[in-house]
Amino acid sequence: MLTAIAGINWGDEGKGRMVDLLSEDYDIVVRYQGGNNAGHTVVNERGKFILNLLPSGILRTTTVNVMGNGMVIDLKHLCEEIGRLRDGGIEITPENLKISDRAVICMPYHVRMDCLEEERLADKKFGSTRRGIAPVYADKYYKKAFRMGDLRNIAALASKADSIAEWKNLTVASGYGDTPVKGEDIIAYLQEYGTPLLPHVCDTGLYLHNANEQGKKIMFEAQLGALRDIDFGIYPYTSSSNTIAGYAPVGAGVPGLKLDCVIGIMKAYSSCVGEGPFTCEMFGDEAHKLREAGGEYGAATGRPRRVGGFDAVASRYGVRMQGADVLALTKMDVLSCFDKIPVCVAYKVDGELVYDFPVGEALDKAEPVYEYYEGWGCDISGCRKFDELPEAAQAYVRKIEELSGCRIGYVSVGAGREQYIVCE
Ligand code: GDP
Ligand code: MG
Repeated sequence: MLTAIAGINWGDEGKGRMVDLLSEDYDIVVRYQGGNNAGHTVVNERGKFILNLLPSGILRTTTVNVMGNGMVIDLKHLCEEIGRLRDGGIEITPENLKISDRAVICMPYHVRMDCLEEERLADKKFGSTRRGIAPVYADKYYKKAFRMGDLRNIAALASKADSIAEWKNLTVASGYGDTPVKGEDIIAYLQEYGTPLLPHVCDTGLYLHNANEQGKKIMFEAQLGALRDIDFGIYPYTSSSNTIAGYAPVGAGVPGLKLDCVIGIMKAYSSCVGEGPFTCEMFGDEAHKLREAGGEYGAATGRPRRVGGFDAVASRYGVRMQGADVLALTKMDVLSCFDKIPVCVAYKVDGELVYDFPVGEALDKAEPVYEYYEGWGCDISGCRKFDELPEAAQAYVRKIEELSGCRIGYVSVGAGREQYIVCE
């Protein structure tokens, strides 16, 4: 059984929370793209954890976790994340955490370049998380990156490190005028933070291939959502990798395998971190109320998230791009803050109603067309069955299901592992 859990919107839909819940039935959880720009918050009986690089299955004692070749890994950050979880009583061993030898290493100079460029852009900045993600993916495609498997023989990397430093300094030192990158610092960094991770590094594609042959159940976990996909998202305000479920087999190292199921995680309203077109954005008191009710501050960066009502145009597109078979509608409880619930049912571009997610200038110009649905005015976080939800909440779920064009199989009504409803 091969299942992907993927975001339908701009990210922060609650994927980590749903992976934590649904991974119970899986033997393996694989992260297939991205780096420590992700922030998944998981709350369960063992405490509250923020995961940036580690797959969300790490909190389960019986789950094997894989960091796939599609990822970019900041070694220091990973060492620290592992340390934090260990301090919280989570056991992490080479048996329950495997890291692809083909995953790319995100170096300190990538982080520095990310910051230097955002600072250069000033008020035109991209809203990068400044974790080095765009520079490291660029280097991957430039074929000038270090990969996890290189850690097996760090001593042999000295001349490559010098040559990379020389190349980097054409931009870092000569271009931006920053402190030059040094080959010896690259080696020292790989030694210090790479060596402790080495026992986890292996051919994870082979591991997953064999596990699949043995009938193991594998869950593929995405970071961010469809609208941040490098090809299909709101380019250039996207991430630098493919976040969509279609990429999961590639980024996990088993490109020939076909997914049996894609579970789309869709938020009952909208949120978006950083810059870029966000048509359904709400401002003023209404936005403030929603942001506070939903605790909409980034898990990775603490930045206040932009918020809006459910966006039917973007979500329908997200469902299509993810190839979602079923949806989990998250954060329904947050909508209890509204008397009338705003839903963006269409966009208006040059006076025309638009129902299919536009691209480029049309998207930049799009204005939201809002409709308002009946609120329910009470706390629903204790509901565990669909018919325990107030009638207005049931009607909202049905309406969202119709607008998004995909069956809603789960409704999440709180951050806790048990706070969810299975829709029959
Ligand atoms: P991810 O990046 O998709 O994993 O999502 P994040 O963890 O960044 O953001 C989702 C936030 O909402 C986290 O703080 C979760 O604990 C919280 N959360 C998830 N599901 C629910 C829900 O149904 N209700 C409420 N109130 N909070 C939720
Ligand atoms: Mg997040």
